[in-house]
Amino acid sequence: MIPSVFEYHAPSTVSEALSLLGQYGDGAKLLAGGHSLLPMMKLRFAEPAHLIDLNKIRELSGIREEGGVIKIGAMTSETALIDSALLQKKIPLLVEAASLIADPQVRNRGTIGGDITHGDPGNDHPAITIALDAKFILVGPKGERTVAAGDFFLGTYMTDLQPEEILKEIHIKPFAPKTGSAYCKLKRKTGDFATAAAAVVLQMSGDVVSSARITLTNVGPIALHAQAAEQALVGKPLTDASIAAAAAAAMAICDPAEDLRGNIEYKTAMAGEMTKRAIRLAATRCK
Ligand SMILES: Cc1cc2nc3c(=O)[nH]c(=O)nc-3n(C[C@H](O)[C@H](O)[C@H](O)COP(=O)(O)OP(=O)(O)OC[C@H]3O[C@@H](n4cnc5c(N)ncnc54)[C@H](O)[C@@H]3O)c2cc1C
Repeated sequence: MIPSVFEYHAPSTVSEALSLLGQYGDGAKLLAGGHSLLPMMKLRFAEPAHLIDLNKIRELSGIREEGGVIKIGAMTSETALIDSALLQKKIPLLVEAASLIADPQVRNRGTIGGDITHGDPGNDHPAITIALDAKFILVGPKGERTVAAGDFFLGTYMTDLQPEEILKEIHIKPFAPKTGSAYCKLKRKTGDFATAAAAVVLQMSGDVVSSARITLTNVGPIALHAQAAEQALVGKPLTDASIAAAAAAAMAICDPAEDLRGNIEYKTAMAGEMTKRAIRLAATRCK
């Protein structure tokens, strides 16, 4: 319950935050919504000597469409994602997933950027951003670089983010007309992390699946991109057999950790079930 002593900094620009990061190095941690970092500090799993609060940096928040791309500031809260008319219309998968994260109080504080950079396989945004083929804009002392969501997550609590960098924005292309999507998440209760979850983005041409992206949450050390499951669907009519083949291919890449949510067999089976449900639901939304 009681965190270690730390020094608090509240920069108002990204460049100020970067220079503080450079100055304090390994001893510093960025503070976003605080709903993963502060719980870890209270348990003394993390004991940063300096907290660099990003909440006063206006340029890190907000959702806008620019040049055919939706640009979401890293400090945008889950609640703001859910309330965004632009996202509801153009990237409804993100809205559906955000509404399944934590609870209203946590969603008022927790940010999309913090959820991504934390690197927890239990978090939902990693699989969602991979399903959406999002690009992450990282800013560091040498300027900006762009990393695809699919290349960002390296291991449990390990990402491609370098210690001197800040995640600035998430860029996602709006859905093409008639794209269907769904996020099916099995959890023990509201506010719990997924036992297993599947994200699906689908396009149909008549009865035939013309494109599919399928990703999985919390059934491996990182969010999983189920490419063989996609191949089991694309170019084929959507039938019980093709859906079962996709679910089997998704289950084949699962490598969950056994814990209080269940053993490996159960979590793997549930990843298959969530994949089936998400495919069926996404297909009904391809209108
Ligand atoms: C009760 C409860 C239930 C929850 N359930 C879920 C759930 O079901 N699904 C889910 O996905 N999450 C869940 N969470 C986690 C929650 O969504 C967190 O808010 C999220 O994981 C981290 O976001 P944050 O903004 O709070 O980041 P913080 O806790 O402030 O930071 C987390 C980490 O990210 C780093 N960081 C933050 N922002 C940046 C940035 N812009 N650039 C670089 N590094 C940055 C920080 O330095 C820190 O290491 C839950 C949390 C609680 C307390």
